[in-house]
Amino acid sequence: MPLTLHVDGDRWRSHLRRVAETHPGLVPVAKGNGYGLGLPRLARKSDRLGVDTIAVGTYAEVGEVLPRFGGDVLVMTPWRRELPVGDAGYDQRVVHTLSRVVDVQSLAAHASVSGTRPRVVVEGLTSMARHGLTRHELSAAARALGPLRLTGFALHLPMTGGNLTEAEQWAAALQASQLETTRLFVSHLSDAELTELAQRRPGLSLRPRIGTSLWLGDRGALRVAATVLDRHQVQRGERIGYRQRPMPRAGTLVVVAGGTAHGIGLEAPAAMTSLRQRALSLARGGLEAAGLSLSPFRVGGKQRWFAEPPHMQASMLFVPGAGSVPDIGAEVDVDVRFTTTYVDAVEIS
Ligand SMILES: *Cc1c(COP(=O)(O)O)cnc(C)c1O
Repeated sequence: MPLTLHVDGDRWRSHLRRVAETHPGLVPVAKGNGYGLGLPRLARKSDRLGVDTIAVGTYAEVGEVLPRFGGDVLVMTPWRRELPVGDAGYDQRVVHTLSRVVDVQSLAAHASVSGTRPRVVVEGLTSMARHGLTRHELSAAARALGPLRLTGFALHLPMTGGNLTEAEQWAAALQASQLETTRLFVSHLSDAELTELAQRRPGLSLRPRIGTSLWLGDRGALRVAATVLDRHQVQRGERIGYRQRPMPRAGTLVVVAGGTAHGIGLEAPAAMTSLRQRALSLARGGLEAAGLSLSPFRVGGKQRWFAEPPHMQASMLFVPGAGSVPDIGAEVDVDVRFTTTYVDAVEIS
């Protein structure tokens, strides 16, 4: 298969079970490209983990998850009176996030007219400053609920760590408010912070929303590989590619699967910066000086240079010298950022 995510099935599944067992109340987050694994797969896996709720990013993602997961689907992007949510958005199993008093009022009015009682989570505005009510707005929100069923309160915290104080202040504000719920959805608290918060606020039932460290937490279980599609020997000065750029040395062009359509760009992922810098300094006056960029592909154990910027479905790599290169059909490893990469296939052993 062209660009393939290989998953060590036993290892991956046992990691998922371990995270579920050590995080009571876990709400798996399944959004975007499904963390590289695809939303449908994450919905099925969550179902098998036995959790009662899954969180998606947007209303557009609800339809992909509903048929594959039997529990509730919490939409983390707040419901907005200005924006339509589509038919699936009003499914009985959908739980809405509300982050403005006007939205509480509008959804309550919508529910009254349609004779339904949608379930909602009210969100507090944290130092993230993305969405949410301030603590002064909580009582107005509580009064506006009408037929809406409040199933929890939500906090989205920054990824900088040290979020316990802020989470606890909100927990206190929630318990002092007229919002009648003891369920607190939290994002980006560390394990130690979760344990501490649970101890300090025993009246609350904590629901950690976790994506990355659940699905991608055991990186060693996941490997992305690109199929070698073609190879050509080139001479020094020979012009190749869309840009007809002269090659700085003799070597081999290796054409591999994976391009901009898969989310492969000119920049290697951030995690590779130090590697990249090392390679850059080693190559001083070499390929970098020739205007080539370091690619995320590894051939023969080394990170290689793009012969030119990646194309839609393939990338052209330059392997200098006369060394051997992999055969057509063989695979080479790629270091990708999973949340921005669309693979052609996921193979689970
Ligand atoms: C994406 C997201 C999460 C999950 O984040 P990870 O870092 O992948 O665990 C949790 N909460 C909200 C509101 C999010 O948007």
